[in-house]
Amino acid sequence: MNIDKLLRNNIKSLKPYSSARSEFSGVAAVFLDANENPFNEPYNRYPDPLQIKLKEKISKLKKVTADRIFLGNGSDEPIDLLFRAFCEPGIENVLSIDPTYGMYQVAADINHVQMKKVSLSEEYRLDAQKLLDAIDEKTKLIFLCSPNNPTGNSLDEAEMLKIIRNFNGLVIIDEAYIDFAPGKSLLPQIDKFPNLIILQTFSKAWGMAGIRLGMAFAAQEIISVLNKIKYPYNLNSLTQQKALELLDNQKQVDEWVKLLSDERKKMIEELAVFPFVQKIFPTDANFVLVKMYDAHGIYQYLTECGIIVRDRSKIHLCKESLRITVGSPAENKQLIKALKDLL
Ligand code: PMP
Repeated sequence: MNIDKLLRNNIKSLKPYSSARSEFSGVAAVFLDANENPFNEPYNRYPDPLQIKLKEKISKLKKVTADRIFLGNGSDEPIDLLFRAFCEPGIENVLSIDPTYGMYQVAADINHVQMKKVSLSEEYRLDAQKLLDAIDEKTKLIFLCSPNNPTGNSLDEAEMLKIIRNFNGLVIIDEAYIDFAPGKSLLPQIDKFPNLIILQTFSKAWGMAGIRLGMAFAAQEIISVLNKIKYPYNLNSLTQQKALELLDNQKQVDEWVKLLSDERKKMIEELAVFPFVQKIFPTDANFVLVKMYDAHGIYQYLTECGIIVRDRSKIHLCKESLRITVGSPAENKQLIKALKDLL
């Protein structure tokens, strides 16, 4: 696969901004190169533009070499950058499954790139052939999300691999919720597929949504492109510093994931007995999609009780469905108690 051939011409010929800190990144006694204020250490200094220390740590954690890692302001940043690098506005298009995470569509709209949606089955299963049939000569990217948001289920691995193997563009697999689906990540296979990009995030299992830190893993050629077009200092010092600290918390994260998985199981069992619950969809994520008899009414009632869930009723294949995040044991108890009070 020739990544260069997929790139937009303006990006191919782009001369990227060269920051002071990328021109000289070594140790020195006096830095007079970046027009920084010499006072107010350490916040006066620009952060590491390529986040070397953080990538070293993430490289060990994920068992992927640092040159295959891009770090962004949430995984929303690489989603947007992929459009900007590979899709000619007004001319080219991308594919995604439907329903799925709403930001792919928004990023497509912002970049004036057509998004073609291919429906999952009623049971939210992926049919690779249906996506492959929707590809045309202008299709550059395919977005898959596994476990999928808002449905919660993991997509079938063989179907995803079929798409990766048979598409001449890039396949993005968004694994934001993968820590709740052990053994299902395609990350160990990243070396095999030069057109595969995997997105993960520290916003979910790692409990760091507030610091905004997302990851893209891909062949080095793709990572270089993302680095070339990103804002020079896309990750601020505070985020990098806090992430370095929190990344030592693997044991704590494992405990959270175990607890949340137990709570998820309990929540599903407890929800299943309510007469206003029609169906609970299988989930590998830290949320459950629940089909109700009156989703809007229950949403309103819960809001009045001070409990906010997400009404997904207007989304394709999600009629009458609420997406409920698995909270702490006390929060989940409050949810179930409020619903019992409805009986
Ligand atoms: N991908 C999916 C599937 C998501 O559900 C979300 C957040 N809701 C994101 C990406 C965004 O993650 P981040 O906080 O890293 O931008």
